Amino acid sequence: MPVTIKDVQVIATQPGRSHLIIVKVITSEPGLYGLGCATFTQRWHAVVAAIEKHLKPFVLGRDVSRIEEMFRMAMVHSYWRNGPVLNNAISGIDQALWDIKGKMAGMPVYDLLGGKVREAAAVYVHADGTSPEEVASNVQKYMDQGFRFIRVQMGGYGGKSSLMTKPEGAPDGAYYDPREYCRNMLKMIAHVRKTVGDEVELLHDIHERLMPIDAVRFAKDVEPYNLFFLEDSLAPEDIDYFRHIRQQCSTRIAMGELFNNPREWQPLIEERLIDFIRMHVSQMGGITPARDVALFANMYGAKTAWHGPGDTSPVGHAANLHLDVWAPNFGIQEWYRASELEYEMFPGLPEVRDGYMYPNDKPGLGIDIDEELAAKYPCEDEIEMWTQTRWPDGTPARP
Ligand code: MG
Repeated sequence: MPVTIKDVQVIATQPGRSHLIIVKVITSEPGLYGLGCATFTQRWHAVVAAIEKHLKPFVLGRDVSRIEEMFRMAMVHSYWRNGPVLNNAISGIDQALWDIKGKMAGMPVYDLLGGKVREAAAVYVHADGTSPEEVASNVQKYMDQGFRFIRVQMGGYGGKSSLMTKPEGAPDGAYYDPREYCRNMLKMIAHVRKTVGDEVELLHDIHERLMPIDAVRFAKDVEPYNLFFLEDSLAPEDIDYFRHIRQQCSTRIAMGELFNNPREWQPLIEERLIDFIRMHVSQMGGITPARDVALFANMYGAKTAWHGPGDTSPVGHAANLHLDVWAPNFGIQEWYRASELEYEMFPGLPEVRDGYMYPNDKPGLGIDIDEELAAKYPCEDEIEMWTQTRWPDGTPARP
């Protein structure tokens, strides 16, 4: 008798800034369940509805062992596909099925994938500040805590200036000036490199804030500071410009957190235009497609750097980590420094020591959720402000 899916529950909780969506797949085997991350924090109601109204009826009664088939069928079952809401919803089920399979086998998910290549995953953390001096001092603080890979930003995603002049009657918003961004960030990166030395690995995320040609120039300008990688220098809509960056400098390029569709990452990897794949594992549909693209990237010399800020749930971080310790081409793992509350709410949330994230050796994903505690932190509805970004004249812009 196969073990089947008996119920699918969605847990929405907000222990910090992000709305977290966790899927719990309950099986016909008493006590056996799995967890998956389906977190799309800005449109979480839509993901909950997609799971409860569409995916749950689709998967009920299915054999839990057939992860591959479930993933393939779920991706095409809606006919219209490859969008962030549905991919996240599918990821919730996909990751939960990997968790269940590991528990049934008595193995951690990294063993199901092929076993460990390394004991732990090196992580990077985020340093920010309002001036180059403050960013450098925050980088030093992280170095003192044992971190060797540090992302440097200034003023959030930057481009802010007290001199910015808006037109009369300009609406509210998160304003930035892309040209100011280029000037400020170059000064900051130069200062930090000079202050903290060459051995610490620095990363920077442009967050697709520039005109494509300015991004090309920025990638050239930062070349002397030898970044570990430059992230999201271009928007998904502008990826043809990666060819120009490649032809003009050897700055290491990371891309992918906004990608939904294999056609977005395949050509970039195949043409050797990027060095790190940054996809958000739940946004691409779960562990199954992440496993596929990791191995594909490995053929072309590209490394993994799965998206891992606070809008990846602790369950999603656990999934990232299993991929990290297994992938032959692991590059780096982003880490948001989870709060004490999150460690309490998600027993088994990966621990980071001396700049490395360690898996526990429990079967499955090795993470659980305290549902009573999660219920005490329900998701709050608010209209997000940081994504209402505008250029100085008020034109809506990419966040
Ligand atoms: Mg990013």
